[in-house]
Amino acid sequence: MYRLILLGPPGAGKGTLADNLTDRFNVPHISTGSILRRNIKEGTPLGKKAKEYMDKGALVSDEIAMRIVENRLKEDDCKNGFLLDGFPRTVNQAEQLDRYLDANGISVDKVIDLVADEELLMERMIGRRVCKSCGRIYHITAMPPKTEGVCDFCGGEIYHRSDDTEETVKKRFFVYRSQTAPLIDYYRNEGVLLTVDASFTPEYTLKAVIAGLGLQNDNN
Ligand code: ADP
Ligand code: ZN
Repeated sequence: MYRLILLGPPGAGKGTLADNLTDRFNVPHISTGSILRRNIKEGTPLGKKAKEYMDKGALVSDEIAMRIVENRLKEDDCKNGFLLDGFPRTVNQAEQLDRYLDANGISVDKVIDLVADEELLMERMIGRRVCKSCGRIYHITAMPPKTEGVCDFCGGEIYHRSDDTEETVKKRFFVYRSQTAPLIDYYRNEGVLLTVDASFTPEYTLKAVIAGLGLQNDNN
């Protein structure tokens, strides 16, 4: 049973780590960013509202984010655990999540804080590409798909997120520092924080996380 939260600045590799962890543990990967992007793609009212904020590098409201997560956590596949990626992103969201978990008699096992410096993160995001269909993450040089522009897993189209531009990434760093970074202390105080250096390869990050969770590394 794993109830995990992935924390860290934009581009730290939360999505990639989540893909790698869900391949290993049978828990759903819940990415508020992916859910919002799917809504944008499908042109839902929620998507239309969210796009304005996302393209500016701003956060959508806590209310919207919490509603998305609550609805998702109610689904059957979350009974065996879950991996939250990109939520919570503000102290208010974390408090609301704690209230929801308390009310359901459950708690988070670990919050994995991925750490890397902003220069490296910028380089990652400028080269990042994402599958339009399944959300898998690629990088033009570090993690290219086998066939250019095509997802290895689902054959979907790979694209460059409209918020992965230098200007928007700078704003997202600012938002991260002011609104999300306080969650590091929040979860340290809850005694569930696991800090991992995310400046190396995705494999390195995965190994460090598995070791930090006290699990066996079976592929080295
Ligand atoms: P990254 O972690 O690389 O910034 P995400 O895909 O997690 O990317 O998020 C993309 C955007 O979606 C954010 O910049 C924000 O606008 C919106 N978003 C995602 N999750 C949340 C959240 N929990 N609260 C508010 N906004 C969110
Ligand atoms: Zn795909």
